[in-house]
Amino acid sequence: MEESFRLKGLRKKLVEGLRKKGITDERVLEAIGKIPRHAFIDSGFSNFAYEDRPFSIGAGQTISQPYTVAVQTELLQLDKWDKVLEIGTGSGYQAAVLAEIGVQVYTIERQRELYIKAQQTLRKLGYRPHFFFGDGYEGKPAFAPFNKILVTAGAAHVPEKLLQQLAIGGRIVVPVGDTGKQAMTVIDRVSETKFRTTQHGDFIFVPMLGGIVKD
Ligand code: SAH
Repeated sequence: MEESFRLKGLRKKLVEGLRKKGITDERVLEAIGKIPRHAFIDSGFSNFAYEDRPFSIGAGQTISQPYTVAVQTELLQLDKWDKVLEIGTGSGYQAAVLAEIGVQVYTIERQRELYIKAQQTLRKLGYRPHFFFGDGYEGKPAFAPFNKILVTAGAAHVPEKLLQQLAIGGRIVVPVGDTGKQAMTVIDRVSETKFRTTQHGDFIFVPMLGGIVKD
């Protein structure tokens, strides 16, 4: 994809900013430094694409703030051979970051309009995650277990079915709380029945909703 030096420069600055804010995983910084975030938002707003803030992507949804994407991806502690399930494809940007790092990506979106648009965007950029249209509360049992699960919408409670689809030794990163703010929650599946939970600061996400939106 053709892009101006100006956008490349802004992207480099964004990565420097994320480093200053405490992101240390070089694979995450490299991926964000490479992926044209402006391809995920309306072309009229390219100049805003590299500011560290969320942005509207239509259908009442947002592309997460780059810092939030970086924190969540870093918390996943990815291994090269991981199978990763993302809940909330949205623009597809987070899925691109995961794909760029080289893991196997499965991503679910409940709004058909976004599900279709994200596929087009990612195909143009050469990323090929597995896309699903459906309710992320159900996970993807046919493809479980997953080594990592990443929820990119704020959940009122930890979705039980997702915990059950985690591999033993696996990890889920999920923002949990009411609509005002959510605690970035990490749960490690230590054994068949044992889970260990830690929290990593407050964030604000659009809500995780049940059911699907067909048009
Ligand atoms: N990862 C996205 C962030 C999008 S915002 C990105 O990089 O752009 C969160 C997304 O989660 C929205 O698109 C919303 O429609 C979706 N979502 C909310 N609840 C969901 C659910 N139960 N299942 C699947 N997707 C859901």
